[in-house]
Amino acid sequence: MMNGGGGSSPGASVLEHRNVLLEELEAVDVDSLAAEELGAELRFIRASVDLLELQAARRVAAFDRKEAFYELGQHSTLDWIRANTHVSAASADSQLTLARQLEALEPTIEAVEQGDISFEHALAIARQLKDLPEAAGRPAQAELLQAATESDPRELRRVGEEIRHRDDPEGMARLAYRQHQKRRLRLFDHADGMLGIEGALPAPEGMKLRLCLESLIGIPARGDERSQEQRQADALVELCSQAIGAGRLPRQGGRRPQLTVIVRTEAGSEVAAELEGVGPISLGTLARLRGQDHLERKQKVDGKGVTLNFGRARRCYSDNQREEISTRYPRCVVPGCTVAIRDCEIHHQLAWQRDAGKTDVSEGVPLCRRRHHPQVTEGGYRLEPRADGGFELLAGWTPHRVEASEGGGRARRRDRLVVDPLQVPAILVKVVEELDQKLRVEDRLPVLAGDRP
Ligand SMILES: [Zn+2]
Repeated sequence: MMNGGGGSSPGASVLEHRNVLLEELEAVDVDSLAAEELGAELRFIRASVDLLELQAARRVAAFDRKEAFYELGQHSTLDWIRANTHVSAASADSQLTLARQLEALEPTIEAVEQGDISFEHALAIARQLKDLPEAAGRPAQAELLQAATESDPRELRRVGEEIRHRDDPEGMARLAYRQHQKRRLRLFDHADGMLGIEGALPAPEGMKLRLCLESLIGIPARGDERSQEQRQADALVELCSQAIGAGRLPRQGGRRPQLTVIVRTEAGSEVAAELEGVGPISLGTLARLRGQDHLERKQKVDGKGVTLNFGRARRCYSDNQREEISTRYPRCVVPGCTVAIRDCEIHHQLAWQRDAGKTDVSEGVPLCRRRHHPQVTEGGYRLEPRADGGFELLAGWTPHRVEASEGGGRARRRDRLVVDPLQVPAILVKVVEELDQKLRVEDRLPVLAGDRP
């Protein structure tokens, strides 16, 4: 028992008992326990934790009745629990939902004390009973208790929802209406330029989104290392790309929704890029966008950045390039990567260098959209052609060896120029300038091999 002796912590004897228990458990050599014994200990500890949770619930209830948070300088019981017991808002809310119905939940509490159901079950039951009309509460609780002995807490939620729909159809309709009004999607800018998303959808509309994302995610390939959250983000972007690609979205101010990039060129070299509505982007990001449908417009500037003229905007499709390239490369060209070309973006490297100064024309190769294209354009990786016609992906940003082309009247010959990584932007500008001459003839857009990491 707690001694009544006040103070800010539980009585000395409670602490002492707890420590004795913990020391005894700690002293057990768990590796030496047989399966049976391990199972028994786990059940004992789990049941003990549940019993302690019930004790916590009694105290939360008292704390809440007294509005003790005032005295302790918080705005609500929920805030105090969150701030002082280091749990999430959702967890604090569950605890409070249970604590506020402690009296009505007596049969449930008893079942936890008996070890028939878990404390987690009790939280789920409390959540389901919270909004039921009082008269329906008692029989519903009996039903839920019965279901709890054979279902896990998640299944129990479904049973509870069925009961609520049966016993309180009006209440559930009102709840659906409230949820409809609470629907929201908030887009906000993170300081680093990423787009933040936060929101909530009513269940049916939420299901619509979920179905689309699940369909686009499909069954992840073996070796797919993306987290589920990354897969969902990719699927959402894919959904948007398909909507834009289908061309059926309404025009805005006479224009179809489409990414628009302004590429600044100075004396024929690409020096900077800007994504309309976003702001400056790295030349690496530009290279990655060039694997996707977008609108591109050139802006010639002089050395001081003053605009000389604007080029015509041109649409850059990835699909017609894809057609032709897919006959040579059916999948991502990184060795070992099995992503098919339909999930790739076409990457244009400046010019593939081959032995003896012979230079291949700049050609596109497929790189998978989710991993290798971002790695090569923005992640500091390099794609190197091999003598056998394959490619190699080299990790990290290492000094870049660049050889100038032989052609081009004003191009100066540079042999095996080794570039200090810190000077890369300036030197790349020069190289692009030289290559641009040659590539323009073929109306190919030169692409910088990468940006500074
Ligand atoms: Zn790949």
